[in-house]
Amino acid sequence: MLIVQKFGGTSVGDLERIQNVANRVSETKKAGNDVVVVVSAMSGETNKLVAYAEHFSKNPARGEVDMLLSSGERVTASLLAIALSEMGFPAVSMSGRKAGIVTDNVHTKARIEEIDPTAMNKAIKEGKIIVVAGFQGVSQDGNVTTLGRGGSDLSAVAIAGAIKADLCEIYTDVSGIFTTDPRIEPKAKKLNEISYDEMLELASLGAKVLQNRSVELAKKLNVNLVTRTSFTNEEGTLITKEENIMEKPLVSGIALDKNQARVSLVGVKDRPGIASDIFTKLSNNSVNIDMIVQNVGHDGKANMDFTVPKGDLNDAKSVVESFVKESEVDAVSYDEDICKVSIVGVGMKSHTGVAAKAFATMAAENININMISTSEIKISMIIAEKYAELAARALHNAYELDK
Ligand code: ADP
Ligand code: ASP
Ligand code: MG
Repeated sequence: MLIVQKFGGTSVGDLERIQNVANRVSETKKAGNDVVVVVSAMSGETNKLVAYAEHFSKNPARGEVDMLLSSGERVTASLLAIALSEMGFPAVSMSGRKAGIVTDNVHTKARIEEIDPTAMNKAIKEGKIIVVAGFQGVSQDGNVTTLGRGGSDLSAVAIAGAIKADLCEIYTDVSGIFTTDPRIEPKAKKLNEISYDEMLELASLGAKVLQNRSVELAKKLNVNLVTRTSFTNEEGTLITKEENIMEKPLVSGIALDKNQARVSLVGVKDRPGIASDIFTKLSNNSVNIDMIVQNVGHDGKANMDFTVPKGDLNDAKSVVESFVKESEVDAVSYDEDICKVSIVGVGMKSHTGVAAKAFATMAAENININMISTSEIKISMIIAEKYAELAARALHNAYELDK
């Protein structure tokens, strides 16, 4: 088999753990497989590099940030290749560029445009283990780019697609995908399998165990994706097509996203085109909008609330305040102490009462719901951040996910 194995930050967190990864990779090779390894930076390393840049500037050039951040993954890639070679397993590390990962030029959140697998295929043919530095690529004009936080997952899936690997294993610090973050609810249960669509919702709604774009790509390329731990031999969770899944629970999981902020616009002029004007301007300033709620207008004015990732709040502020200046909006307020708690499950498509139960659960805990949004397979609620863990545990219990 041709297998891609990705090891996250904790799995390569120190030299001993890198040796542990080398042992595991060598076992896979010894069993007769070809292996392409993708590594993250040592845990904490990327945050440390971000802080270094911020020491000098609040707003460093994003191209420089990419040069800096991409270095973390190169350290682990080369160390792992050295460790493997020393054990008698010929190995070669590759930067994103060498691995042929070509991206657009949107620094710090670049998208992969294509992968030229020539160098990887050549090394595989020579019997070498390849260790690719995750999270990075190169733009058409030759600049180093990074793929957004958690982007090594995306590197692994994209490479698995490009070299037509039989399997893509994501090794992390938990033994698979759980019904909710096991650090929040110790009673969370590991799932044997989950559909791409449910995993995509969970990842997009805050479960950082897989980067959401990696799941999207795995679905598109039909990559066999497994999440498991690098610390034991326990079997992980298979992420696959919905039709391959035997038992379809009503609710598969609960996700929590604390990286949310709310913008509330009071007295928005109720005229055709105002929403378009506001949201086009936000989008032109790369502000990511999530939930939007607008109430029915009165006396020619309406209220409008929306949420953004915390990191986009400053950009959002400068946009909406220009509307206050132009008298299109009476007042604005912001709330960073919120979170989004979500319930995900394909079973919702064919069952009623799932949302009612969520609201009843919040009511029983005396938690006020600020905003609600639903889709075919998810229900999301915005609540005060201080209730985040309580809400997640209460919902986990209400849908009997620990059973
Ligand atoms: P890595 O460094 O290996 O990429 P991450 O820290 O990005 O690992 O992701 C693993 C973490 O995701 C776990 O430690 C866990 O706390 C968190 N997590 C959140 N939701 C879930 C979930 N539903 N199932 C498993 N882990 C989850
Ligand atoms: N090191 C990067 C991060 O911390 C990428 C990754 O680990 O996937 O976001
Ligand atoms: Mg990760």
